[in-house]
Amino acid sequence: TEKELRQAQKMEAIGTLAAGIAHDFNNILTSILGFTDMVLHKVPEGGVGRSEMQQVFISAQRAADLVRQILSFSRHSEQERKPVHLAGVIEEAFRLLRSSLPTSIAMVQEIDVPSDADKVLADPTQLHQVLMNLGTNAAHAMLPEGGTLTVSLRTVPAASPQLAPYPFLDRVDHLQLCVRDTGRGMESRILERIFDPYFTTKPAGEGTGLGLAVVQGIVKNHGGVIAVHSEPGAGTCFEVLLPAVSLEIQREEELPEQLLLGSE
Ligand code: ADP
Repeated sequence: TEKELRQAQKMEAIGTLAAGIAHDFNNILTSILGFTDMVLHKVPEGGVGRSEMQQVFISAQRAADLVRQILSFSRHSEQERKPVHLAGVIEEAFRLLRSSLPTSIAMVQEIDVPSDADKVLADPTQLHQVLMNLGTNAAHAMLPEGGTLTVSLRTVPAASPQLAPYPFLDRVDHLQLCVRDTGRGMESRILERIFDPYFTTKPAGEGTGLGLAVVQGIVKNHGGVIAVHSEPGAGTCFEVLLPAVSLEIQREEELPEQLLLGSE
């Protein structure tokens, strides 16, 4: 559609821009973060200029985060794909989120996939970013009251009705990753725009509006689809479907060479 085309062009433009400036920008930010951190260690709690320096640090961190998000638009070519245990990536992101979120947010992990059937062909760093972006959004939607963040993983077999809406997808087994929250949810006029680059409802300086655009880009690049269900006041559920690395292919790769020759 025309909207998708416009969106793709926007992403392309961001990518080109990013490749040019991100590297230098990163160096500058690293030095700002390093020096402010040094000052923060020297000035005692309540000391002159400490709270201002803390603000500098927080802003620089936000800028670094923005650069990281923008960079992922321009990484299409250099990404590295290998079979990745999705459960492992979830585990790691889960731990990171747990350590950074307040205790008013309960976290539940539901892995319902055999340990040899959770592989996807992917760039693990990008999958990690998908989980972190969805997870932090979910947490944000539940604050300050708190709530429950559920991350789940299950198998969706080829030809199952759930894959029917997507042409070609129903030919292979998929893995379904869900990030669900009990937060404020979204009205349809917001839902329509959440994947647009730079769309945010967060106050100026807090949101980049790039998180979900990046998530969608990564999922599409990996041959997957993303869907969202949301109910205002009740919560939101993001569903990511990714093609699984089939068990047959895994077995073939594991076969010793003699065996393969012997079976000719
Ligand atoms: P940002 O988080 O910087 O605003 P995103 O692209 O990640 O950018 O999200 C865009 C918007 O989508 C958010 O500002 C918010 O309004 C909405 N949103 C995303 N995830 C959720 C969620 N789990 N619950 C409610 N609203 C959400």
